[in-house]
Amino acid sequence: METIVQKFGGTSLANEKNRKKVASKIIDKYEQGYKVVVVVSAIGRKGDPYATDTLLSLVDKKSVGLRDLDLLISCGEIISGVVLSNLLRKKGYTSSVLTGYQAGIRTDKNYGRAEVIDVDTKNIKKKLKNNQILIVTGFQGATNEGEITTLGRGGSDTSAVILGEALNCKYVEIYTDVDGIMTADPRIVSDARVIDSICYSELHQLAEDGAKVIHPKAVEIAARGNIEVKIKNTLNNCEGTIVKGNEYLIKNKNHIEGKDKKVINAITYKKSRVQVTVEMHDNNKNMNRLMSDITRNEISLDLINFFLDKKVFTIDKEDVERLQNILKDYDSRYYIKENCCKISTIGYKMHGKPGVMGRIVTALNNQNVDILQTSDSHTTIWCLINEKDLSKALNALHREFSLEKG
Ligand code: ADP
Ligand code: MG
Repeated sequence: METIVQKFGGTSLANEKNRKKVASKIIDKYEQGYKVVVVVSAIGRKGDPYATDTLLSLVDKKSVGLRDLDLLISCGEIISGVVLSNLLRKKGYTSSVLTGYQAGIRTDKNYGRAEVIDVDTKNIKKKLKNNQILIVTGFQGATNEGEITTLGRGGSDTSAVILGEALNCKYVEIYTDVDGIMTADPRIVSDARVIDSICYSELHQLAEDGAKVIHPKAVEIAARGNIEVKIKNTLNNCEGTIVKGNEYLIKNKNHIEGKDKKVINAITYKKSRVQVTVEMHDNNKNMNRLMSDITRNEISLDLINFFLDKKVFTIDKEDVERLQNILKDYDSRYYIKENCCKISTIGYKMHGKPGVMGRIVTALNNQNVDILQTSDSHTTIWCLINEKDLSKALNALHREFSLEKG
């Protein structure tokens, strides 16, 4: 009997109607003869009674302490798990719920963003042997000392893939509220299209650059274990997106060189970026000091462009206050530009193809979108723009590369 993992996100579990759909997805696989491990997120989104954000709003984040915060927010998934298990039992199926701790997910001690060290599958296997549907609460684990930890936002995706790897699963299904990985966020680009198949590296870039649909860590783990992942909609029976290694895509007929002229496969964005310009000369020893101050304060820099007379980079909005605290000890003048948005145009075939940057610049200029900064790699071109231009820019690039067409 093969084992599979199915993960259901917050909106999939938000109400009774959706939970019935969830139950039928689980029962389908169980009846097909699979051993089914279900990973659940907390019910609903911000504002819903047991959603992670709602739980967070019950305490003062600054004084509660990281350990207690993790204890608190781990409750959302436990509630989901029990509610879903109850529904399965009412339909006549035996199921049981394990918390991350009980499921043997062992992590380091970094509360709020813990890394999974290993999984002791003893308890899970015992339950599966008894022919039970097993529900594991996503987003959480525990340290060797039994302290409850959480894995960071989107962490249930990681839980699912980690379990897929530990249990040597045939595949992992991630169920959400859209039809799969799409060419752009359908909330902004109405004619975004579902991508049938995508390789780990492209999806990782998409996830890293803001496409919420799967957590980047989950993609890393899938790539490490060569685990097949399917992204599907809980509310319908669409095929969804299949995620695999590059070799699969090369064999796939749509990707055979010559037939597939597409250089760009998807566009994504990250809001709340802040552009920082510091007037500082290269030969100034303050540069080394500034870099180590930034590192010590764990501020992550992005889109880094250093010139002789100035250093330009972007940071997250949350880090602005900390950076300003650092910079007040320096003589250098600096400028902060808030409300920026990073747009990523992604395609693993753009490498060596001239003209992609030209097309991006022209498409954005034609919409009067100011480009504040750019950067590029073999597979991605990044443009920093004003957040107010996000929808215009995303739609213009989507049209320019004909992403709405299959
Ligand atoms: P879940 O609660 O199921 O984990 P998320 O909200 O984390 O769901 O992720 C699903 C959301 O990701 C979608 O509702 C969609 O708005 C957003 N999204 C952003 N970019 C993309 C993309 N390229 N493809 C699909 N969905 C995307
Ligand atoms: Mg998610």
